[in-house]
Amino acid sequence: MKNKKQVFDNVLDLVGNTPLIKLNRMVSNFKGNFYAKVESFNPGHSSKDRTALYIIEQAEKKGILKPGDTIIETTSGNTGFSIAMVSIIKGYECILAVSSKSSPDKIDMLKTMGAKVFVCPAHVPADDPRSYYEVAKRIHEETPGSIYINQYFNELNIDAHYDSTGPEIWNQTEGKITHLVACSGTGGTISGTARYLKEQNPNVKIIGVDAFGSVIKKYHETREFDKNEIYPYRIEGLGKNLIPGATDFDIIDDFVKVTDEESAHTARELARTEGLFSGYTSGAAMQAIKQLDERGEFKEGDQVVVIFPDHGSRYMSKVYSDKWMQDQGFFDAQNEVAAENIQY
Ligand code: PMP
Repeated sequence: MKNKKQVFDNVLDLVGNTPLIKLNRMVSNFKGNFYAKVESFNPGHSSKDRTALYIIEQAEKKGILKPGDTIIETTSGNTGFSIAMVSIIKGYECILAVSSKSSPDKIDMLKTMGAKVFVCPAHVPADDPRSYYEVAKRIHEETPGSIYINQYFNELNIDAHYDSTGPEIWNQTEGKITHLVACSGTGGTISGTARYLKEQNPNVKIIGVDAFGSVIKKYHETREFDKNEIYPYRIEGLGKNLIPGATDFDIIDDFVKVTDEESAHTARELARTEGLFSGYTSGAAMQAIKQLDERGEFKEGDQVVVIFPDHGSRYMSKVYSDKWMQDQGFFDAQNEVAAENIQY
């Protein structure tokens, strides 16, 4: 446990071993016990520290990466931050192709962490040469001594969570977990964690969270890619307009879809009621818990674990900005706390 050690060799020593925190107030009327795996306690403030460190260390072990080489990735921000952090400590160049949907704060952070950033249009098909997938692929082909992490299609993304997130949750709940609720973007977190948990107890129910405007839930139900499901939405890091190879659809029992608006309000509610200042997708995951409770998914004694992927500070110009909420038409005067202008 990292808490026992007080002095660390470098920041990477602190990746993983995040706390499981009991949720009390938001779920006071729900049946069951609810725990959040709060991934913002990672040094890069998100679950992606695990993925980045694991994939890079696997490449080192295979002799594919040597100091001075370049690591390239497509990223909505969190993975990029984690790769940039690992690159600094291990001595790699870092090039990131980022979606224009990413918050300006995230892009500034990546640049601060020494990464070279290419901002690519969000609302183009994945196979368009301007998409962040195609841009990253092209840079990789043109850069000698580079690796492309390709988190959406890299099996190691699943292994990273099989290796750490799964065992941690199993141990923290002393094997009593009944439900895992987790967002699905690349699908690495939910698939790897679920794979480990189901190996320990096949009855653990795995529920994914998807966005309206994404193809994931429909694909899980039909195994068909339905492009009619796709339309722009605001939540970053959740859902997809393609079928990620890093998602093990067979291991996930069910998906819940959540809206941009409800997820935003639930993220704010989490801060106000539990004191947990978390990212937009944490609000989405908590919103899914609310919907699951309404449909009677949980019973007394259940031990439900929900993964909160990142920290609220990354969304100051979005979900936690009253102006942004107003601009989206999400502002509900009755639920918001007005800022008082105090004159001295
Ligand atoms: N939440 C946020 C904020 C993310 O950046 C991501 C990753 N895209 C996810 C959730 C989903 O995690 P995964 O990619 O492992 O499915």
